[in-house]
Amino acid sequence: MSARPAFDLIFRNAVTRASPAPVDIGVTGGRIAAIGPHLVCEAAEIDVGGMLALPGFVDTHIHLDKACLLGRCAHIQGGLSDAIRAVAAMKRDFTAEDVYARGAKVIERAIVHGTTRMRTHIEIDPRIGLRSFEAIKALKRDYAWAIDLSLCVFPQEGLTNDPGTEELLVAAMRDGGEVIGGCPYTDTDPNTHIEKIFNLAQEFDVDVDLHLDFDLDPSWSHMEEVCRQTDRRNYHGRIAIGHVTKLSTLPPDRLKAATERLAKSGVAVTVLPATDLYLMGRDATHNTPRGLTLAHRLVENGVLCSVATNNVLNPFTPFGDASLLRMANFYANVAHAGISEFDACLDLVTDLPARLMNLRDYGIAVGNPADIVVLDTDSGANAIAELPEVLMGFKRGRQVFARHRPTLFPPEG
Ligand SMILES: [Zn+2]
Repeated sequence: MSARPAFDLIFRNAVTRASPAPVDIGVTGGRIAAIGPHLVCEAAEIDVGGMLALPGFVDTHIHLDKACLLGRCAHIQGGLSDAIRAVAAMKRDFTAEDVYARGAKVIERAIVHGTTRMRTHIEIDPRIGLRSFEAIKALKRDYAWAIDLSLCVFPQEGLTNDPGTEELLVAAMRDGGEVIGGCPYTDTDPNTHIEKIFNLAQEFDVDVDLHLDFDLDPSWSHMEEVCRQTDRRNYHGRIAIGHVTKLSTLPPDRLKAATERLAKSGVAVTVLPATDLYLMGRDATHNTPRGLTLAHRLVENGVLCSVATNNVLNPFTPFGDASLLRMANFYANVAHAGISEFDACLDLVTDLPARLMNLRDYGIAVGNPADIVVLDTDSGANAIAELPEVLMGFKRGRQVFARHRPTLFPPEG
């Protein structure tokens, strides 16, 4: 019997966040079987060449169903309510084929930018019915070779004010919905909205991911009600709230109290820099506020946070390439992150969102799926600073994409 372990594949000379000295990563049956220097085996080899290997980026908050709508709304130039209205009008004409095609475009861009796990929010209401949901379920199935897609269904335009929505949410939860979302600020009765979403979450035993406190008015908030419901139902570690731009308006003493409240209830915060910066502060004539909640500071004080994509090429955010590394770089820049905090910014699109989604098998560790992406840099901090290319990606040990470095052609002689 051979003493040599039988790997299917070995990554040679990979820098990981746990090991700045290059290591080898052995893969068996799609899972990481060993990590160490100079693994001995005659398996197929990938030479990582001292570059940084990550377990892929984790996007906790994206809207695949309403992405890539720019060609249909050339004249939109407004705030949050205008964006919701514009998409609500377009949504009536969405077909499942249309949603699938636009979603596929974004998923493919996310994959080639190194995303291996994703939670997409899907709008459910009587206008769209379950058409978007059916399309996104097909995307989940068809792209499972490259990305794990988790489906969060939610009522974007309100729940108590929109008869028929709750029944559709229940139907979606019975037929593949994995997380329930909400949007109390569009509801005429926000607290009942929150209550009903928590009821559904408990009924189906799923996590909750809400759009919350998405403006710059510090005089009111739905955060306390969410924390209260979380405590009441013992749902700590199962709740995320997205945007929460109000936190960026709070003076230090109030921010400290809010941070402690979130940490105590185990409520996670997702910051969505592209949308938050695009939609907030639009009425300012000068000294425009950034409207960006400082996720890495909340993390320092015990709140689980992620930075995510949210919208791509629509009235909420007319930009986007689904690159989480670019989003983390953008966040770090706007959030005034110092060099010593760049690693914490990378955490916001890798380990922390994996925890937020309660993924138990994420990370470059023995036993986990061999989800590995290779960046053209040598450390986590440099990944944020340099915005390097993602050169290749693997899902469960199978290569899913490659990108080639550009070639320069200097004149001869
Ligand atoms: Zn969103």
